[in-house]
Amino acid sequence: MAIKTAADGIITLKNVGKSYIQPNKQQISILDNISLELRRGEIVALLGPSGSGKSTLMRIIAGLNPPTTGEVLYRGRPLTGLNPGVAIVFQSFALYPWLTVLENVELGLKAKGIPSDLREPKALEMIDVIGLDGFENAYPKELSGGMRQRVGFARALAVEPELLCMDEPFSALDVLTAENLRIELLDLWLEKRIPTQSILIVTHGIEEAVILADRIIVLGRNPGRIRADFPVTLKHYRDRKSPHFQALVDRVYTILTNPDLDTVEPQSTISTPKASNAKYQALPSVRIGSIAGFLELLEDRSNRDLYRLGQELQLEVDDILPIVEAAKFMDLIELREGDIYLKPIAHQFIGGNIDFRKQIIRQQLLQHIRLVQQINNLCRSKQNNRVPEELILDLLGNHFSAHEAERQMKTAIDWGRYAELYSYDEPAGEIFIEEEEENRPLATANQSET
Ligand code: ADP
Ligand code: MG
Repeated sequence: MAIKTAADGIITLKNVGKSYIQPNKQQISILDNISLELRRGEIVALLGPSGSGKSTLMRIIAGLNPPTTGEVLYRGRPLTGLNPGVAIVFQSFALYPWLTVLENVELGLKAKGIPSDLREPKALEMIDVIGLDGFENAYPKELSGGMRQRVGFARALAVEPELLCMDEPFSALDVLTAENLRIELLDLWLEKRIPTQSILIVTHGIEEAVILADRIIVLGRNPGRIRADFPVTLKHYRDRKSPHFQALVDRVYTILTNPDLDTVEPQSTISTPKASNAKYQALPSVRIGSIAGFLELLEDRSNRDLYRLGQELQLEVDDILPIVEAAKFMDLIELREGDIYLKPIAHQFIGGNIDFRKQIIRQQLLQHIRLVQQINNLCRSKQNNRVPEELILDLLGNHFSAHEAERQMKTAIDWGRYAELYSYDEPAGEIFIEEEEENRPLATANQSET
């Protein structure tokens, strides 16, 4: 692979941050100190848990959203307004139902100010390249999902963007259609049949990233920041079964499932990430029952490899990750190099009856989950043992968006209720401790199998 030089740079982000002001005047940081360069000749995959700011980052690069701090350079000059070098393909296709395929594709050219007599030939050319010929006059509703997304591709590519941005472009398609389209796109790119010089794809599919990308960037959450940025040097077309491929998949999986492990490597430009100074863990909204089920499945299996386990259970990374994260926060499991191990306390949990399980969760929550600790302490410090949820939301509002704060509180209530630490009085909007909850025992090792 050719060595990339500064001259290959199309877009440069320097210490870009994005935050929103909440109605309560609090500033919520979505992206923090992002520095990176997108260069000619590379496909970059942007991975990260949901809510880590992937779409926001893409919109900043496209000039649809300005950053709050830092700078975006396009061809070395500060970007103001829409980025003329970027076209986007959306997950939702975003086609106009009342326009034909041809008219939908022409729309992008029109927006670019291409004269009308040039639009049709250009659009037809791209329609042909993207495998839509014969469908020029069809309407979106007459097309399958895969064909609709082809229209999305044709529309974006017709304007000959230097950088093609795609936000989870295959995730609304069935598996086979997605794989076909992915490989066809790769064909077009490798054979240089599309005029695009660089591709940025947002995805939550690890394999998709490893199939397509020359470079993988992993974002972390709360606030969104670059946690890893490394090249993929495997030759195309890549064999999913090869050890090298699998090793890369494992590596990405390990990064994603170890939120505490920051691995920004030399390849990444300019910045070193700040450690997250978040006061609260970002609790994934999963139920204790899911965690219990997951732990039980793990105990029954010799397979410790998280990625293969996900495949075996037919769970997507997006399904499994929140559960793993929650179990990790509660210190029930340990992750080592993509392998997952139950801690002794988790074995006790699995072996215990419902009361004992509740005790264990109670203990783990009080030891490891800050929000639960805080709610518990607040309730206990009040004479009537009741805390209004507004108070919790206000505290969380300093760190999360209003919507996310609500979700965090709901999760903490859910977990605390399971553990019988506190209860929730929904009509009153209060969290409270009942008398019998006040003196509940914590689990001790010799209490199992009761
Ligand atoms: P991803 O694409 O990685 O799932 P997003 O970029 O969509 O993440 O969102 C990142 C975070 O920014 C989310 O927590 C989301 O709620 C928040 N967010 C996005 N847009 C806004 C907005 N206009 N105001 C407040 N918060 C926002
Ligand atoms: Mg998104």
